[in-house]
Amino acid sequence: MNTLVRNGRLVLDSGIVESDLFVEGEKIAALGKGLPADGAKVIDAAGCYVLPGLIDFHTHVDDRIGRFYLADDYERGTRVALLNGITTLCTFVTQGPDNTLRQALQTARRKAEGRCHTDVAWHLTPTTFAESDWHDLEALARSGYRTFKFYTTYRNAGIYADEHLLEGVFRRLGPLGVRFLVHCEDDARIAAVDAASLDLAKGSSHARLRPEEAEILSIEALLALAQRCCVSLHVVHVSTHGGAERIVAARGDQDVTCETCPQYLWLDEGWLDRPDGHRWICSPPLRNGRERFRELARAGAFDMIATDHCPFAKADKDDWDGKDVRTVANGLVGIGALPHLAWKLWGCDPDRAAQELALRLSRNPAERLGYGDRKGALKVGLDADLAILDPEATLRPVQSSLADVHESYPGFQSPLAFRHVLLRGVHAVEDGRLAGSLQPTGLPLQGPA
Ligand SMILES: [Zn+2]
Repeated sequence: MNTLVRNGRLVLDSGIVESDLFVEGEKIAALGKGLPADGAKVIDAAGCYVLPGLIDFHTHVDDRIGRFYLADDYERGTRVALLNGITTLCTFVTQGPDNTLRQALQTARRKAEGRCHTDVAWHLTPTTFAESDWHDLEALARSGYRTFKFYTTYRNAGIYADEHLLEGVFRRLGPLGVRFLVHCEDDARIAAVDAASLDLAKGSSHARLRPEEAEILSIEALLALAQRCCVSLHVVHVSTHGGAERIVAARGDQDVTCETCPQYLWLDEGWLDRPDGHRWICSPPLRNGRERFRELARAGAFDMIATDHCPFAKADKDDWDGKDVRTVANGLVGIGALPHLAWKLWGCDPDRAAQELALRLSRNPAERLGYGDRKGALKVGLDADLAILDPEATLRPVQSSLADVHESYPGFQSPLAFRHVLLRGVHAVEDGRLAGSLQPTGLPLQGPA
């Protein structure tokens, strides 16, 4: 089935143009004014922006995190994504204590198969490094898995990587074109906090337990290490001014990108001070000084905005001892809120907002993922992933997840409505709803494990 999108405002790399767009099969086939329908299905996009399908570069779904299983599986996580213009969801595979990374990846692929409403891509976290593991890692990198994720904290969870290990990984996998995602929080700095001096029953103690300095120290160390090893670094969920400023300063000298998340733009420590403040526990923690942080975002400090969506059921998030915030399930929901809260940064200038979304929620993540030749722009030959966005719809509350979770952004409203979404040419969202009889048509970007 071919599709002609008529009368839209196409958000191209070079600017916004009023034009038609023709989809043939799975690909964008032509851009131009007055294109003939030639029997294709016609979507009238008058009054709407036509964006390249959005990408959430950082989500957690269908996985166990600490004591709890996440509330969004692949079906539900990708459904809320698609309804909000997101056509590729990136999530994680972490090697467990009893399996190889390849086995963990095969399990994730089985869970995802036939159940995804968006395309999916996996970032990989290996935890053992025997010679056979290295062969696996190299083979995976060569077969299209180009993003590996590491943590400079979480010793107890068995995923902590020290500088020696990171250097080994950088030197061995970097030359294969792997890009390294790092959660930067200095574990020693966190361990040095005097927890006994804090009232750990209060949500705000979480921000003291994981101080800004821990993030900044770790970012400094990783920038130096990545430069020494000549590898591509991506710092996930930057939450501090100091961290962002160091990354911006390093950009001229090395290949480094970073993301921040809606919670670090729009929520501050005040949310942790509420009687139910534990519901806003995530790491890194919410912090103060957000107006200045938003200024950094508007000035282009963050190559991407992604969610770090980590959905816990209400009952699980509230299941803690009431005495120590370190026992709270750690994470917020965000997928469905992502485009709305990114837009809000530039909302008074809709053309600018549309271009920033196309850049920071589509092109940059596609390129960092290593799939810039398939996704991330409205160009002939690329996948026909399209998000047709009405910027002046009725105000509605944002909804981060369709699961039974505490909303991270209560009271936040958005004027945006994603009227139509195409995934590789399939008209998957029609008039704001999932197309009737449609089975999930999302596929993994990467090849078989
Ligand atoms: Zn995460």
